[in-house]
Amino acid sequence: MMKRNKLMAILLCCVFVFGGCSEKREAAQQMLSKYSEKDLHEMTTFAMDTVMQFTIYNEDGEQLLIDAEQEIRRLERLFSVTMEDSEISQLNQQAGEGAVSLSKDTFQVLKRGKEIGELTNQAFDIAISPVVKAWGFTTGGEKHVPSLKTLESLLPLTNAKDLQLNEIDATAQLLKKGMAVDLGGIAKGYTSDAVTALLKEKGVVSGLFSLGGNISAIGRKPDGKKWKIAVENPLDANDYVGLLEVEDCSVITSGGYQRFFEENGKRYHHIIDSKTGYPADKGLLSVTIISKDGTKADGLSTALFVMGLEDAVRLWRNSHDFEAIFVTTEGKVIATEGAATFFTFEGRDNDFKFETVKREGGVS
Ligand code: ADP
Ligand code: MG
Repeated sequence: MMKRNKLMAILLCCVFVFGGCSEKREAAQQMLSKYSEKDLHEMTTFAMDTVMQFTIYNEDGEQLLIDAEQEIRRLERLFSVTMEDSEISQLNQQAGEGAVSLSKDTFQVLKRGKEIGELTNQAFDIAISPVVKAWGFTTGGEKHVPSLKTLESLLPLTNAKDLQLNEIDATAQLLKKGMAVDLGGIAKGYTSDAVTALLKEKGVVSGLFSLGGNISAIGRKPDGKKWKIAVENPLDANDYVGLLEVEDCSVITSGGYQRFFEENGKRYHHIIDSKTGYPADKGLLSVTIISKDGTKADGLSTALFVMGLEDAVRLWRNSHDFEAIFVTTEGKVIATEGAATFFTFEGRDNDFKFETVKREGGVS
């Protein structure tokens, strides 16, 4: 039940496709070709309850990785629900009592969480914590199926609209006693954006990192080729259903196969349908989101998993800032039209079927 990496970064060869204007392209390539294997720096660390791995190409790589780790620890100290003095813990402790002042990052992550909630008709619910805790997820204790009565009493406390944010003085308030915020579905995406920004600002042009399987790519590999990222087979962690070739974006997967427990022979996972209080069960095994916006990719991977394929595709058709790969319980691997242009399906041997969904409504 240990969390496993959902996506493996595989450094394979691929065709070099030029993009953008030629001058910009040349400048980027010159910067990249400066680097080789001797500038490769790697780090593995444990934070935010998961394994984090970094690969960057830079002459100052060692120091840059220390900076990246410090940034992650700084955000963890703000966002953690297990550290009692984190800003999120303080907000939760003050539920129903009053507002708390927040740092820029905590305010921003809550604001983005609320926005993604609105975009997904609250399938993404930043205030889901009371229900998640009732299942024993995030508490560190025994996991069990809560009674229907317990869930019914907790659901009214999970309305993100009762999390009030005041931009002017950067404060937040949970209006009802018993409410609590849970950043588990968004914190790693937000952190990946922060780390990407920090590393780019310090001159990194080539890197790849995984925050517990949430992958972020900076630029391309030093040889100018795109990064290859595997989309894991949700039924077998040692296998994958296809490969994505990407640059400068985040690739984030949510699935019911990552954290779960079993009771009376039935499996219960950690992504909760905020309408019912039970683990989401809408015919999906996993959702992978590809976007320049890592925060959004993290929130949406969780939300679209809760929503199910039909509503997820409808939301994608109305959006223009992400692409997605869905793996369904019926054994289909479905790519959105944009994702299909940089995804190679490799699940045939395991009886997966591949389809794409079009912007205009067709399936092929
Ligand atoms: P992971 O953290 O395993 O990468 P997700 O990004 O999908 O996976 O986040 C799952 C976590 O988000 C859960 O552990 C829980 O803390 C929280 N969560 C569960 N259900 C929801 C939901 N409907 N909306 C927002 N957050 C949720
Ligand atoms: Mg998520």
